Amino acid sequence: PHNCGLEQAFINMNRFFVEPERITNKSINFPADIAHQILHVLRLKHGDEVEVFDNGGHVYRVSLGIDAEENQVLGKIQDTLPLRAEPKVRITLYFGLSNREKTEFILQKGTEVGVATFSPFISQRTLVRSSSFSENRRARWEKIIREAAEQSGRGRLPELNPPKNLQNCFSEAQRLNALNLIAWEGASQADQKLSKSLAGFNRITLGLFIGPEGGFSQDELNKAQAASCGVVSLGTRILRMETAAIIFPALVLFALQDF
Ligand code: SAM
Repeated sequence: PHNCGLEQAFINMNRFFVEPERITNKSINFPADIAHQILHVLRLKHGDEVEVFDNGGHVYRVSLGIDAEENQVLGKIQDTLPLRAEPKVRITLYFGLSNREKTEFILQKGTEVGVATFSPFISQRTLVRSSSFSENRRARWEKIIREAAEQSGRGRLPELNPPKNLQNCFSEAQRLNALNLIAWEGASQADQKLSKSLAGFNRITLGLFIGPEGGFSQDELNKAQAASCGVVSLGTRILRMETAAIIFPALVLFALQDF
């Protein structure tokens, strides 16, 4: 097809999130870390093109002005592109805090799938008991999210909430989201089907709860229902929490034809 070149270019294009204040009338003043990546990691040349997202819903096709001696790179906006890779529905994924690699896996894959906000929680059975959130852990997690958003071509950077206890997440979810669903492996395949819970859903905000490796206790399920969460099955097989954390938003977006 005639536009395969364009599509191919989009797929291979390097993408960067740049804060809006660095974008002034058609020029991009890249921050040092991105300039370093352009010059010394990607070794891009003068005149090469990249995509820049301002996290405000704009995507720009940008040509690079590179002065290798001065170690300088400036971007010149050539075009504003359509924001194609954002789901309409803004999903908040609430998941049980786990060890570092599982948590980082969920942040990376959830970003690729289209999650808008990550909200980790501490519950009765989470491996991690403390909700302490050091500055460098937050920075590391936000970097993982940003890199996954750039790689997958997201138009908006997903947000990361600090860890909270599960009850606070239920109360917040009830306040913020038009619909909240909690995945429970004990839910019946028949009358707690995901498609049934989503039938006719046409709002913007949706909360999805995934339990930790040990699952939710009965008491936590009761609290979820008291906070008007719908209990849904993710099928007949028991998924690991990191699998469920990816499948749940993907199935929801697919069911809403928003994938
Ligand atoms: N009770 C599980 C077991 O026997 O291994 C432990 C919980 S499971 C590993 C982690 C989480 O994934 C659950 O809390 C639930 O939120 C979700 N989950 C896994 N499989 C599911 C299924 N078939 N239906 C609904 N939720 C599921």
